[in-house]
Amino acid sequence: MSLEEQAINFIKMVAKNTDKPLYAGNSGGKDSAVIDKLLQLSGIEYNSYYTNTTIDPPGTIKHIKDNYKHTEILQPKESFLALVKRKGFPTRLNRYCCEYLKEYGSVGKIVFEGVRSEESSKRKGRDYIQCDTRKWQKGAQHVYPIYDWTEKQVYAFIKIYKIKLAPHYEFANRLGCIACPLVSRKGHRQKELDLYPKYYDAIKRAIILGMLHNPQWKLTCATNGDGELAMKWWLSGKTMNEYFNTYSFEKTNVGWKKTKKNEPVQQQINF
Ligand code: SF4
Repeated sequence: MSLEEQAINFIKMVAKNTDKPLYAGNSGGKDSAVIDKLLQLSGIEYNSYYTNTTIDPPGTIKHIKDNYKHTEILQPKESFLALVKRKGFPTRLNRYCCEYLKEYGSVGKIVFEGVRSEESSKRKGRDYIQCDTRKWQKGAQHVYPIYDWTEKQVYAFIKIYKIKLAPHYEFANRLGCIACPLVSRKGHRQKELDLYPKYYDAIKRAIILGMLHNPQWKLTCATNGDGELAMKWWLSGKTMNEYFNTYSFEKTNVGWKKTKKNEPVQQQINF
């Protein structure tokens, strides 16, 4: 049985075993495009949605509107930039923006998603159907019909069905939030911002305003409110202690205090 047939049979099996409505999360990326095609080939009924992260590459929303008329576009309550201003930068250890910009879309739903194990080591070993155990997700289930597909197989399928990809694929083979802190490939985030410099400026402006309104943040203390330095740290992927390692940081009642680490003590010479 071909990979395509296996995926379609799996989709049909999921649909047969529930009377709940089914959903597809369409990110506008290549894996979502494959999922959407497979769902159509399977003939099941489903509702497709795209969560506007407000930080996706230019042209993504237009691509969805033009090519996926059945995909509903969901708008977040707060944009990525507003979140940066209010809460500071998201990091790999504190990826809070996903909840505000993406994950609210799946609350309480059974959602087909284009997650593949090849994409990250964290995803290896997941089941094809994952129950979301976070309380606020209200029993959401994530279903991954192309979990085992390689990138090569994804592109082969796209070629066979002549699927049109979003404009960002002219420059890259991954579509997602620009400069997402979860992307660990060295230099990748900077490359994306070099491609879309307006995003760099907008994010920098947001963090400057955030620091201005939040003198108590550790980042404000570490950078003295310098937006350029804050961006350099954010894009380094390092923790603040690693990046600003010539200082030690202490939390006080009024915020953070930084002290230059001990410089070598000069030897006193007595004549
Ligand atoms: S994918 Fe990255 S940037 Fe986008 S919402 Fe999630 S953590 Fe934030």
